[in-house]
Amino acid sequence: MSANLAPPADQIRSLAQAAAEVVASYYDTLAHRPVLGPVTSEKIRAALREPLPRDPADFAALLTVFEDVILRYSRHSGHPRFFGFIASPGTPVAAIGQMLAAALNTNVTSWRSAPAATEMEHLTMDWLKEMLGYPADAAGLYVSGGSMANFAGLAAARSAKCPEAVRQGVAAAGRRLRVYVSEEAHQSMRKAAGMLGMGEENVRSVATDARLRMDVADLDRVVAADLAAGHLPACVSASLGTTASGAVDPIGDIAAVARRHGLWLHVDAAYGAFAALAPSCRPFFEHIAEADSVALDPHKWLYLPIGCGCILYKDPAAARAAFSHDAEYLRVIGRQRDEAFPFWDYGPELSRPFRALDVWLMLKFAGTRLLGEAIEKNMACAKYLERLVEASDDFEMLAPVELSVFCFRYAPPGFTGDLDALNQRIMVDLQKEGGSFLSNARIKGRFALRGCVLNYRTTERDMEILLDDVRRAAAG
Ligand SMILES: *Cc1c(COP(=O)(O)O)cnc(C)c1O
Repeated sequence: MSANLAPPADQIRSLAQAAAEVVASYYDTLAHRPVLGPVTSEKIRAALREPLPRDPADFAALLTVFEDVILRYSRHSGHPRFFGFIASPGTPVAAIGQMLAAALNTNVTSWRSAPAATEMEHLTMDWLKEMLGYPADAAGLYVSGGSMANFAGLAAARSAKCPEAVRQGVAAAGRRLRVYVSEEAHQSMRKAAGMLGMGEENVRSVATDARLRMDVADLDRVVAADLAAGHLPACVSASLGTTASGAVDPIGDIAAVARRHGLWLHVDAAYGAFAALAPSCRPFFEHIAEADSVALDPHKWLYLPIGCGCILYKDPAAARAAFSHDAEYLRVIGRQRDEAFPFWDYGPELSRPFRALDVWLMLKFAGTRLLGEAIEKNMACAKYLERLVEASDDFEMLAPVELSVFCFRYAPPGFTGDLDALNQRIMVDLQKEGGSFLSNARIKGRFALRGCVLNYRTTERDMEILLDDVRRAAAG
């Protein structure tokens, strides 16, 4: 057997040490790199392209490619002034955790295949439920991310409201199943409705208030209109932290509407869930236990590397109704209760990586007190930027800061041109310049420079630098 497939222990040590050196120096230099250096796809392809490799290569040469091509031409989500999208910075302990998980290469399909990893998944689910204030007997599992968690939640809602849907399709309901989201909701709900055969057109947009939260009176109106038209109101999804502005929908009021009309209540907390660790955000979670399902993303505000979302279902039987199947090759034989536990009865995946290890490592290694402080600090940075903008005469806020997202624009006094075009140009130039990175949002029709503070490295000083960088980009 080639030593490159099964290297001896000493060689494994030297491979790991060489890679650990790259990891350590990456984290050490991260803040001094451009967020994204100048690059074209042609450049990257020219550096990587070669025919299918036939012979073994030297690991040191491969690490060089990782440093010289991959690191150099990547956008650095861990940079303290990367404010784009809702991007976790990752964390060294989880990077190392993923090496441990890959070494074990456990496949977390069920207790039978992965006894210890399954128990660790159950344990961390219990911790997440405790963190949120969600019922202890709820079921839950990790999935690849928030989109998949929303998909799984909507699948459970679909079979709760149309039990024949799994076997016969949603046409069996004889009516259109309707889903309600605010106009600020993440597009993954609409996409899930399409994939589940419910139809994207059956996802109804509900108006938002001045703070971009779902307008509950409008929800009531839209549901009533659907009932009058003979449709079947099935599910309402509330956002606990919208992607564009961080708005938190009034979950208690939405839950009351859901109860009145027999709707499944899903809460999309992909962004906001871990704000539960921040004492100032506890009121947002007051009614979370009323949700039938909750989507959350440890790979956002738990600062974990990409690939870890989570779905919780208040009624485990509702998840099984949506997902359980009985293929002979999967039948668990000769095991009782807990030891027969299959994750495939609760979500769309069969083979699953050991995602719980990252969550366990992070919660144990950092502890929730430190994590809560980091999350509070992220929100304080966003609030600080809001104060800087309000005190300036060349910037204006376009949405209030609710969590750690900030939406603003450059609007110098006396400027009479097109502010949307100006700010769009600023964003592109800022991204090219590489000192700070913002993405964009449309807030009530206006183009916004949008940032999200989701990095334990970011300080108030970074917010000042950001505004200087934006001014410099504006001056062009
Ligand atoms: C990020 C996000 C999603 C999608 O999550 P992924 O992990 O990117 O699939 C869904 N909903 C909200 C509110 C989000 O912020």
